[in-house]
Amino acid sequence: MKFGGTSVGSGERIAGVAGLVASRLPEEPFVVVSALGGVTDSLLALSRAARDGDRTAADAALRSLGERHRAAVDELGLPDEAAGECRSLIGRELARLGDLSTGVSLLAELSPRTSDAIAAAGEILSCRIVAAALEARGVPTAPVDPREWLATDATFGSAVPDEAAIAAAATRRLLPERRAGRVVVTGGFVGAAPDGSTTTLGRGGSDFSAALLGAGLQDAGAQVSAIEIWTDVDGILTADPRLVPSARLVPEVGYAEAAELAFFGAKVLHPATIRPAVTRGIPVRVKNSFRPDAPGTTVRAEAPGDGVRALAMRGGVAALFVGSPRMLGAHGFAARVFATFDRLKVPVDVITTSEVSISITVDERAPLDLLARELSEFSDVQVLRGLAVLSVVGREMRKTPRVAARIFSALGDINVVLISQGASETNLTFVVEAKDAPEALRRLHRELFG
Ligand code: ASP
Ligand code: MG
Repeated sequence: MKFGGTSVGSGERIAGVAGLVASRLPEEPFVVVSALGGVTDSLLALSRAARDGDRTAADAALRSLGERHRAAVDELGLPDEAAGECRSLIGRELARLGDLSTGVSLLAELSPRTSDAIAAAGEILSCRIVAAALEARGVPTAPVDPREWLATDATFGSAVPDEAAIAAAATRRLLPERRAGRVVVTGGFVGAAPDGSTTTLGRGGSDFSAALLGAGLQDAGAQVSAIEIWTDVDGILTADPRLVPSARLVPEVGYAEAAELAFFGAKVLHPATIRPAVTRGIPVRVKNSFRPDAPGTTVRAEAPGDGVRALAMRGGVAALFVGSPRMLGAHGFAARVFATFDRLKVPVDVITTSEVSISITVDERAPLDLLARELSEFSDVQVLRGLAVLSVVGREMRKTPRVAARIFSALGDINVVLISQGASETNLTFVVEAKDAPEALRRLHRELFG
């Protein structure tokens, strides 16, 4: 069970998490928590203030971090001894942060290694506080510092996990706690390099930690029935509910579909982070900690059913239409076009080709003028800005009859700039003008989901 920052945002929320975990004891849960909501941002702001020599801002950040965590502990109303232990841990972490930020401001230099040492404080504190809340409910609990099991390389800021070492740590450090009847509560995001120094997996890394923990426990011989990502939304929806109020929950989705949805704009879950679980056949369930009885969305390697599953949309897109009168029968044109994108380090998005031209979409913030100039040395180039990519995601869509016909009749008079289907079984993607995109999404949703 992994709980994100909003789920552990205050003493009251932490007490709720402890209740959720306590209600699941027969399933022998392991618990991974994020920092209290917003704390990682404050820690990174603290490091920047220290680097810039702004001692006033750094001191203010330290004070408010202390207050934030002490308030959560007070609100929990823990027994005196447990509250005292939490307060002294908070004191020690703040002293460590104070020393680190003094060092950073003296050197006026913030290395990725030091930044990680500072950013890790959020999860180091939150796992102890959540563990104390669970223990206070009478549940035997083992708080485990994430650096004791999440082995990584030394790429500070986006460390690469060592899955074999994690499995070994699961055997040595984590499974014995469960056998002794204690619930392990650990922090996400944070790990340790081979020399013991503190690393982080990168922003939002706690989901990745949860998947790595599940994978490591399974590799160590435990039976892992599911990984639950507890967050503040019900799960993956058929469309963005801010644009399509009638959007509804998708109960099950395949890994490839979840990846397409994330790439094309849905932000619930970053699929790369759950890969270690999915490749081992462990289902990943997204659950809402504000509505624990809601069923959530389950992501698995393959989800049953076929046809359309959900819609996604991403704005801020531009298209380049690259034409060559000499393309007829010639070779090497496409290679030159893509070599230009490669040289300018611009990732390409949707690609379609015809006999005489190649159409490519890119992020609108790409160096469009430069791209157009270089491409026009050997082709005719047109640039169109202000576009949005819409993606219809599902399973075995190529084999589903009439999907394309229904999509295009639903779009009606909305002008479609580009269409791409077939590269993947899991999506049909097209590009429209950004101003038409919300209406296009609503029309599609009405047609495909009722
Ligand atoms: N606390 C970290 C962050 O905010 C990790 C996480 O919450 O997943 O990026
Ligand atoms: Mg977070």
